Order: sequence, then structure tokens, then C-alpha cells
Amino acid sequence: MKKTTLLYEGKAKKVYLTEDEGLVIQEFKDDATAFNNKKKGSIAEKGVVNNAISCKLFTLLEEHGIPTHLVEKLSDRDMLCRYLEIIKVEVVVRNIAAGSLVKRYGFSEGTVLTEPIVEFYLKDDDLDDPLMNDAHAVALGVATREELAVLKSRAEAINLVLKAFFAERKLKLVDFKLEFGRNNGTILLGDEISPDTCRFWDLDTNEKLDKDRFRFDLGGVEDAYSEVQRRVLGA
Ligand code: UDP
Repeated sequence: MKKTTLLYEGKAKKVYLTEDEGLVIQEFKDDATAFNNKKKGSIAEKGVVNNAISCKLFTLLEEHGIPTHLVEKLSDRDMLCRYLEIIKVEVVVRNIAAGSLVKRYGFSEGTVLTEPIVEFYLKDDDLDDPLMNDAHAVALGVATREELAVLKSRAEAINLVLKAFFAERKLKLVDFKLEFGRNNGTILLGDEISPDTCRFWDLDTNEKLDKDRFRFDLGGVEDAYSEVQRRVLGA
């Protein structure tokens, strides 16, 4: 399958149309941004690593009956996907307190939550992706109540599969962000699942192995991403 026109360029990926109108190609870049574009940089080979990790995890989810946009991994940086009409909701699932949960509610970082928390954020960079509830999402017209219920239950099911998978690989799945889209009347998981969109801590040492190393200049960013790749792919 060949790329035709560039449909969209985001912070970490480009999306191309293809000769088949139902399919797009996601190309993973090395560019990295944080704090809604205020911090910019690049992480060597990140695109290759995130494509490999995402393809593996989307395949795993499909094996567990969770529908995704993945068709196949085309090359190092390219993922062939079903075309989605992206739902403008970022779904965050949290198992352990970190990041904005700590800032907003005063949890101590590392507190294990009694049950996972699913949050919705409006996908809108100009507004800094504000946290929203179901009523906001419905009022804004970004999703119906029925769709939001599907997003929540899908996110919970994905969390169960991923938590178990990462635990076997000695990683704690602290939190992560998902995006979904509409395709022929169904909702599919889209975007990516990678150290850019998840927090992973080593099970024994709590060492951070994700984008927080870039966000907070902790060093060893590339090594952390490769370590996650190694554990995920078992290579
Ligand atoms: N996240 C993401 N994209 C965003 C916001 C958050 O991938 O635009 C991920 C982030 O990497 C983390 C989880 O969602 O794994 C929760 O992020 P949080 O709300 O704590 O925000 P942050 O601290 O990243 O600003």
C-alpha cells in the first residue's frame, strides 16, 4: 500500500491517505513535545520504537477481542490503519497516581488507586485539552452518551489486558491515554499506545521508563524507550 496525500501532521505522527479510501498510513516521527507544545525536542529512533510497540499492543488487544484501527505494520515507521473519524475525546485511564492527578487532587505520586479512574479530556490544543465530564462532551457535540459509555467500557477492558501484559514484563502501567474513532458505525481504538502515551515504572525499582524522562529532563530517554520495547517485544 502506498502513501498518497498527507492528511494530517501531528506532534508525533503524520497520517497519509492511500490508494484505498478506507485505509491510511500512520508514520511515526522522532519529534517529541510536552506540556502542550511548550517543550519541543526529538528522541532518536522514537518513531521506530513507538511503531513497533504500538503494533504489538494493538495486535494483543485484537487477540482479546478489542477492535482497533490496526491493519498491519508496513515498515519500521509505518502502520497501515483503517480510516477513522476521530472522536475528539482523550480517554485517560489511571491505576497509580501521577502527573495531573497529583497536581489537581493532591494525591501523593505512586499511590495505588483503589479502582482505576477513567477520565475524559476534550481533544483541543487551543484549550489545553480540558478535563470534562459526560455532560460537557454531549453538550459540545463531540460524542453521544452511548458512545461515551462504549469509550469507558473499552478503556476498562483495555486496561485489564495491558496491566496483566505489562506486569508479566515487570512494568507497572501507571496511566495511559487512548483515542477512539468511528468507522462504518463501529468504534475502533485509534492512535498509538507507547511510552509517549503511557507511564511505565519498573516493577521493582519504580524507575520511570516513559516520556516523563523527556518532560522533566531526567536523562536516558532513548534507553528507557528501548527498554520498554525490549520488554514488550521480548527481544
Ligand atoms: N497523555 C497523553 N497525551 C496528552 C495528555 C496525557 O498521551 O495529551 C498521557 C500521559 O502520557 C500519561 C496519561 O496520559 O500517561 C495521563 O497524563 P496526565 O493527565 O497526568 O497529564 P500530564 O502529566 O502528562 O500532563
